[in-house]
Amino acid sequence: MFDRASVVTPGGVNSPVRAFRAVGGTPRFMVSGTGPYLTDADGREYVDLVCSWGPMILGHSHPEVIAAVQEAVSRGTSFGTPGEGEVALAEEIVARIEPVEQVRLVSSGTEATMSAIRLARGFTGRSKVVKFAGCYHGHVDALLAAAGSGLATFGLPDTPGVTGATARDTVVLPYNDLDAVRAAFAAHPGEIACVITEASPGNMGVVPPADGFNAGLKELCAADGALYISDEVMTGFRTSKAGWYGVDGVSPDLMTFGKVMGGGFPAAAFGGRADVMAHLAPAGPVYQAGTLSGNPVATAAGLAQLRLLDDAAYAKIDAISAELRSLVGDAFTKEGVAHTVSSASNMFSVFFTDEPVRNYDDAKKQEAFRFTAFFHSMLEQGVYLPPSAYESWFVSTAHDERAVERIAAALPAAARAASEATA
Ligand code: PLP
Repeated sequence: MFDRASVVTPGGVNSPVRAFRAVGGTPRFMVSGTGPYLTDADGREYVDLVCSWGPMILGHSHPEVIAAVQEAVSRGTSFGTPGEGEVALAEEIVARIEPVEQVRLVSSGTEATMSAIRLARGFTGRSKVVKFAGCYHGHVDALLAAAGSGLATFGLPDTPGVTGATARDTVVLPYNDLDAVRAAFAAHPGEIACVITEASPGNMGVVPPADGFNAGLKELCAADGALYISDEVMTGFRTSKAGWYGVDGVSPDLMTFGKVMGGGFPAAAFGGRADVMAHLAPAGPVYQAGTLSGNPVATAAGLAQLRLLDDAAYAKIDAISAELRSLVGDAFTKEGVAHTVSSASNMFSVFFTDEPVRNYDDAKKQEAFRFTAFFHSMLEQGVYLPPSAYESWFVSTAHDERAVERIAAALPAAARAASEATA
């Protein structure tokens, strides 16, 4: 299948990290998913710790989500008109997240961050955007500078195709460094439209914000008249009922969402202060649109998923994550592998270093070659991890004791493989 795919698709995949280039080997083509398990084209079953990179927080093929999708599909798949489903999903988002007074639905996280930045520039009349090295906000031209995720995986500092003019308006700073942010505002007074940050980064591995970092960003933005944009595409509706906002309580001017809110379908959103959102077309002059925005099937899936995510569901995910973190840490300790299990609520990843990791430079100092050996051992034993050392691992409410036991059984040999690996 990979050979077939490679003939008709660049690199054989539709999103780079899926190609396994960071870890080598042939990507698995999945044909079905049930609960915490995926089955590949050769009939092998894996415990899934990727969960579609976050969306499948209830596990695969959750019966209530599938039923909501089937009901929606039976009424038609796209109308290009307003519909009740998109209103209900917007109401659910607004009800959960206090700083979001109004929300606009789009189809991908990339579209959400791109639109939020355009709105921030339109609202402030300024052009510069501050972002942090190692934070990934989708493949928006202006934000593809020193980004993590796929780019970190390939070690590419930048990408051809983004013009110098576009990159010039982006200021890239080290993460968790408020002094650097202060210096940027001092260097560009009245020019910065917004600071965009992952609410708690998961695209350079999991590197949570230091105490007071997000609050400091908000304060510095407010003092200068810039907008503070919190990208919750990954953390939104995952790290708590109200995402990372529910953890640290810092109110952004604008927020972006995706992944969990689409229930496995292409749905994403950006929203925030009503006076800022009022600048968006057709209410205001900043243009933004989408043929499939608010799609009835995607909104039905997202709404069904969100309605199942109550306090008990988050407690369950948090407990499973804590259990896995401790199993993983113990396995490496037993084999004498230098490591840090880094977590933010139920998101976590392993850095192969025992030095503190506070930013992207720290993250890159790890012995990533150990991850390659670890990854392949886990894969051979039927555990599907993200195929890169710089990605968060994701769990779901469906990860039951049987799934955890299968992971636990695979860990000793995989930790030994990591310990024996050479650069
Ligand atoms: N923002 C963050 C924090 C993300 O993690 C991602 C994707 O991983 C995006 C934005 C882009 O979302 P999408 O892949 O849906 O375009």
